[in-house]
Amino acid sequence: MADLKYIICGKLFNGKDDEFYEGWKILVDGNKIAAVGPELERPESAMVIDLSDSTVTPGMIDAHMHMDFWDWHTIRQEVYETSEEAKTLSCLHTAQKTLARGFTTVRHMGGITSNGFGILDVKRAIDAGHFSGSRIIAASRFICGAGSHGDLSQAFSRNPEMGMIAQKLRKSLGAGPDFMVNAVREEIKYGSDFIKIMATGGFFTPNDNPMQTQLNDEELEAVIRTAHEWGKTVTAHVYSVPHIRKLLQYRIDGMEHCALMDNETADMIADSGTYVVPTFSPYEEAIHYDPEGLKDKQPEFRAKLELYKDSLQQGRKVIKNARNIRLGFGTDFVANHMNYESGYEYKAWFESDMGVFRTLKAATSVNAGIVQMEDRIGTIEPGKLADIAAWRRDFFTDPYAMLDCAFVMKDGVVYNTESDIAKE
Ligand SMILES: [Zn+2]
Repeated sequence: MADLKYIICGKLFNGKDDEFYEGWKILVDGNKIAAVGPELERPESAMVIDLSDSTVTPGMIDAHMHMDFWDWHTIRQEVYETSEEAKTLSCLHTAQKTLARGFTTVRHMGGITSNGFGILDVKRAIDAGHFSGSRIIAASRFICGAGSHGDLSQAFSRNPEMGMIAQKLRKSLGAGPDFMVNAVREEIKYGSDFIKIMATGGFFTPNDNPMQTQLNDEELEAVIRTAHEWGKTVTAHVYSVPHIRKLLQYRIDGMEHCALMDNETADMIADSGTYVVPTFSPYEEAIHYDPEGLKDKQPEFRAKLELYKDSLQQGRKVIKNARNIRLGFGTDFVANHMNYESGYEYKAWFESDMGVFRTLKAATSVNAGIVQMEDRIGTIEPGKLADIAAWRRDFFTDPYAMLDCAFVMKDGVVYNTESDIAKE
C-alpha cells in the first residue's frame, strides 16, 4: 500500500524562488516528494500533516560543522582527554540534535578532537537506518602541516616533548607533496566524501595567524590534483587574499571563511564558480563590535578578533555585496554555541542584511550543490527526497526564526523537533 502524506503549508519556500507561496500543499509518497502546488487534491489514503500555522521549507543544510565534541566550553580538553570511541559517540549525538533542529543534511569539515574515521561509521549507521540523525557528508580528517591551524598540539607549544607526542596522533598532518598525495588517497580509501585542507592560519588556534600561508605551492598542487584524479572535491580553510587567489589558480572547488577578502578577489571567485562558505557566526562580536561579548571568548581567539576587527568588518561588506558568488551557509561552531545550534547562523546573516531569500537559498539549494546532492535534496520539487522542515516564526522579522523548528521530515519519515528558543 502506498505511504502517502499530504502536507498543508501556511507559507512555502521551495528552495529556489524569492517567494513564500501561501496555502500550497505537498504530497509525499514514501521517501520522495510526489507533487507540490496550490491546488493539490488530497488522496483518500493520505495522512494529513497540517502545518498551516508555519513556514515550510526544504530540510536545512549546514555546510560547515565539526561534529566531534560534546561541549565547546571543554573542546580543548576533549582533544586529549576523551577516547576516539567517545568522539564517535559525540558525532552521533550532534547528528541527532541537528536533525531535531530541522537540519536534515550536515557537512563535517574534519575532526577537531578526533584523529580517526568514526564520523564515517556514524554516517553509515544513519544511512543504514540503525540510528536517526541528519544525513552526513564528511571529510573525516583535515589535511594540514605542523604548527598550522589544523595542528591542535599547538596547545603544547611550551612543552615540546608533549607537543611532539600529540602531533604524532594526527596522521593527516605532515609536509611535502608525497605526504599530501598519500593523505588524500587515504581519506578517500576510508570513505571521506571530499577533502578539507588548512591552507592558512586561523583565529581559534593560539599560535598562528590568518595571514600565514600554511601549505606551500607544491603541497597545494599535490592535494588538489590528487583529489581531482580520484574524482573528489577539495575545500580549504583560508583567509588571506593572496592565498585565496593562489587556490583559484590551482582550481580549488570551494573555500571556507574568506572573511578578510577584497572586492577584486570576490569578482575573481565569482568568475571561477568556486563556492564560498563564509561561516559568519564565529566573528559576530567583532563585526558588530561588542567588547563585553568578546570577554567570553578564549584569550587568544579574543585577541585576534580584536586585532582583525576592522578587516573583518570590511570583509563582511565585501561578501554581502558579492552577489555572484555561490555563497553557502555554514556555522563552524567550535568556540561559541553548541555545534548543533546551526540556526544561529540565520541570525548572523539576518543582522548583516543578507536578505531572507538569499539566506534561505544558501541553506537549501546552494548547499545542496556544495554537498553534490543537488539532484536529490535542497528544493521541494517532485522527485526530490522528502526532506522538509517547518518553522513557527517569521523569517522576515525574527533573527531567531531558524532556532525554532516546528516540524522535520527526512527521507519521508517524521522526527521529533527541539527548539533552542527557550534560551533566548
Ligand atoms: Zn572549521
